[in-house]
Amino acid sequence: DKLFSGFSKTRDNLAVIDELLLFWNLSETDRVLDELEEALLVSDFGPRITIKIVESLREDIMSGKLKSGSEIKDALKKFVLELLTKKGNKTELQLGFRKPAVIMVVGVNGGGKTTSLGKLAHRLKNEGVKILMAAGDTFRAAASDQLEIWAERTGCEIVVGEGEKVKAPSVLSQAIKRGKEDGYDVVLCDTSGRLHTNYSLMEELISCKKAISKVIPGAPNEILLVLDGTTGLNMLPQAREFNEVVGITGLILTKLDGSARGGCVVSVVDELGIPVKFVGVGEGLEDLQPFDAETFVGAVFS
Ligand code: GDP
Repeated sequence: DKLFSGFSKTRDNLAVIDELLLFWNLSETDRVLDELEEALLVSDFGPRITIKIVESLREDIMSGKLKSGSEIKDALKKFVLELLTKKGNKTELQLGFRKPAVIMVVGVNGGGKTTSLGKLAHRLKNEGVKILMAAGDTFRAAASDQLEIWAERTGCEIVVGEGEKVKAPSVLSQAIKRGKEDGYDVVLCDTSGRLHTNYSLMEELISCKKAISKVIPGAPNEILLVLDGTTGLNMLPQAREFNEVVGITGLILTKLDGSARGGCVVSVVDELGIPVKFVGVGEGLEDLQPFDAETFVGAVFS
């Protein structure tokens, strides 16, 4: 399936683990674990998690709990699965019961925000969800045009601000009012990814969030942060900043099809305690896949 194939480069990076474990015996434990550590680091599992995994395996090997290469492999998979499910359990969208639900999509330009928003609209629409898009990136001239193309491609309605001085919070609040009046299920809000003035991006996002909750108390239901998966562990500081300021409910990691650094999925979930909800595995409409920890573990350690 697409989620599985999206991690093929990471899987290639980690294939060495199978060879290592095939010939494992107790006397070679140190060498094998050193090389396993290297493979995990190269795939961006990050030093903290890598050490946790390797030390846990070492302990279980030394105590006699793990007695063969295949038992070690299973323990490795189980360890990663637990890291993912302990911290990031709500991988499905949490849209509540009140209509319309509001999803705000945030992230810096170039990360794949617009594409992911379009793919998400396509996915929800196919599930029978009535979607209204809101063009909340009012700073970049081309952003609304780009989103309008996605609206057309996916057959969704869109609210775009009129005039030069239009402000994002007002576009979003207008869209949500319309969503309420016209019986939409979900309002999908785009936001800016970079600002040109000294007014900060984070302040803008806070204003957008406030404008949304003013129309529907408790909304947005989801604030999804889109991160470029090819940046691997370098996405962490950015994710932390967004989370501290706006409070992220889920992550969309893009471009994982082009990345061998898929281990960053585990790092980002472990460090932030935020679930990965979707991953981008290509440029097509269908290439936004719901994240599933078991498929991920099976895909990277096949
Ligand atoms: P934005 O500036 O954050 O809105 O980024 P865009 O949505 O315009 O995406 C930037 C580029 O990345 C575009 O060329 C997209 O086609 C590409 N892209 C986005 N998501 C993915 C993905 O999951 N896989 C691949 N291969 N390319 C992607």
